[in-house]
Amino acid sequence: MKILMVSSEAVPWAKTGGLADMVSALSIKLANLGHDVRIVIPRYYSIDRGALKQLPGAMGTPMGAGIEEWSAVYTTVMPETGKKKETGSSPSGQARLPVNVYFIDHEAYFGRDGIYGSSTETDFLDNPRRFMFFCRAVFQLCRKINWFPDVIHAHDWPAAVAPVYLKFAERVPGSAGGFEKTVSVLTIHNLGYQGIYNKNNFDYAGLGWDAFYKAGFEDWSMLNMLKAGLYSADKLNTVSPNYAEETKIQEHGFRLDGVLRYRSADYSGILNGIDSDVWNPASDKNIPETYSAKNMAGKAKAKEALQKEFGLPRDAGLPVIGMVTRLTDQKGVGELFGPTYGSAWAICREMNLQMVLLGSGEHWCESEIMNLTSHLSNFRAKIGYNEKTSHLIEAGSDFFLMPSRYEPCGLNQMYSLVYGTLPITRRTGGLVDTVENFDENTGSGTGFMFDYLSPSSIYDTVGWAVSTWYNRSKDIENMRKRAMALDFSWERSALKYVELYKQTQKAKGIIQ
Ligand code: ADP
Repeated sequence: MKILMVSSEAVPWAKTGGLADMVSALSIKLANLGHDVRIVIPRYYSIDRGALKQLPGAMGTPMGAGIEEWSAVYTTVMPETGKKKETGSSPSGQARLPVNVYFIDHEAYFGRDGIYGSSTETDFLDNPRRFMFFCRAVFQLCRKINWFPDVIHAHDWPAAVAPVYLKFAERVPGSAGGFEKTVSVLTIHNLGYQGIYNKNNFDYAGLGWDAFYKAGFEDWSMLNMLKAGLYSADKLNTVSPNYAEETKIQEHGFRLDGVLRYRSADYSGILNGIDSDVWNPASDKNIPETYSAKNMAGKAKAKEALQKEFGLPRDAGLPVIGMVTRLTDQKGVGELFGPTYGSAWAICREMNLQMVLLGSGEHWCESEIMNLTSHLSNFRAKIGYNEKTSHLIEAGSDFFLMPSRYEPCGLNQMYSLVYGTLPITRRTGGLVDTVENFDENTGSGTGFMFDYLSPSSIYDTVGWAVSTWYNRSKDIENMRKRAMALDFSWERSALKYVELYKQTQKAKGIIQ
């Protein structure tokens, strides 16, 4: 299949979150399965043109009000693709297919610092234009390289208008042609971000005002780019089956639950995978000694190293609770660290444990955490982003605390599980698909879960985990073994995406 990923982020070029990892990881796995996968992203200012190859000639993109936008196109091949001979993952042992990546270079829109905003302008005023242009340029790119995809796979609101252009401008009689057999899939990575702007920007889309309503852009008289994608894409999905269900109800739907219910026949969830080259205790170079379920000595070493790194007493007899997180409301940090009401204080004061945290984010939370570290001898934190320390926390902790308010998929709980670190989580989103609650009667489960997010429910569930650790060590050991045997590989997820692409083609009558 010819698959075009349309995204505002892809590692290693542009990343603000998990979207960037997912787009590249999925593309590589699909290419390994024998598909012709290409990615298109904007050429942000931070992406060095010197490392890319320019396609000859300028590219014109027709936008509304008679405007033609001119851009350059650069290209390169995704690192580690198109080179090695693979016998395992590629079906007939042929050379691994390259993932070609294209960069739309438009100086006025992308020749500035920042992907969506900067420190002085958190959401660029011209974002609707920047990303509407990007979505339209995708089709011109295909014409330019004379390569027409079977599937356009768009990600999140910045790419959501690509399926709209496909349906209302490119796959219709009288269009310039080439996309008659192309289908579209839109993946929601986080429904909290929708790209809502003043509707005056809509002229620029060049779709005509009847499409403002027909394509679903209209949102209480504003322009909602994600909503239009949700109305117009041939199929929709999100990054876990449970989040797909949750987003259809008001509590988690961010006002779009009605649209998702309306599209429910075409809406599903596919769990993200994790990169098992990077997150694997048996080969991890960021921890003192590798380990596996058969030989857990390395985990004890990691715990010791973790306690040392965070300046805690080295004591194998105390359970360590780890956290690696963005410090934002989504992650439940209010209930944990909120001044006077958060439960971290009571947890550390009243329970015999150690707690370590690595994170950065909202200012109030960073300063509250530092405040707690100065009053609590068993709570230590590092404010900042540090890949190596995050591995040590996953490996060296006994439990991983993740009290998320909502979690489309969540990666950290999957990392924790394969490192034998039992998650303590809220029962929400992808956490439900990946963690199984401990059952005291049977000893089954892989983690400790609670339903309602409140300081006391976090307190109670940490208490439950810790008392199990002290009193039922055999159960903990069995839970660890079970967790470490779980398979969160990208291969599995990639096969599910292939199935989704095929279903979409079938639904449109393109294949039988
Ligand atoms: P989200 O994408 O909502 O932040 P996920 O759990 O899906 O949450 O993924 C977060 C990713 O970012 C994980 O890979 C996690 O290890 C990493 N991460 C978050 N904060 C930090 C940090 N301060 N240092 C290192 N890695 C971090």
